[in-house]
Amino acid sequence: MSKMRQIVCGQCGRINRLPAERAAQGARCGACHQAIFTGHPLEVDERGFERHVANSDIPLLVDVWAPWCGPCRAMAPMFERAAQQLEPKVRLLKLNSDAAPALSSRLRISGIPTLLLMQGGREIARHAGAMDVRNIVAWTESGLARS
Ligand code: ZN
Repeated sequence: MSKMRQIVCGQCGRINRLPAERAAQGARCGACHQAIFTGHPLEVDERGFERHVANSDIPLLVDVWAPWCGPCRAMAPMFERAAQQLEPKVRLLKLNSDAAPALSSRLRISGIPTLLLMQGGREIARHAGAMDVRNIVAWTESGLARS
């Protein structure tokens, strides 16, 4: 039996269905033919965030940040490197809270950076404050193991 997983293309937003057993690394989008995973976090706005949350069968790791936030800028390269380690098991998103104030308030973001780990449309873990790459990966994996 091949179980299909829904994954949202990082380039065009098309919802792709991939066999679970096939390595998603290297898979190309059925619509835009670009790589579905590029080893980089995706910048999303409120609509993009909702689209990934509603249509992803894989876990999402979301970095809620803002351009004026020093610790956020310091963590950005760590998050970037974490994407190389966690994809394609996990999709990494970056949400600029300044550009999505209503969503940030709905998510009850009280400080940034905040990392949200989401699966099946709901939050399963949250961490406030910057982490290095090793801790981002370890925190994500332990959150998934507990869920
Ligand atoms: Zn695409």
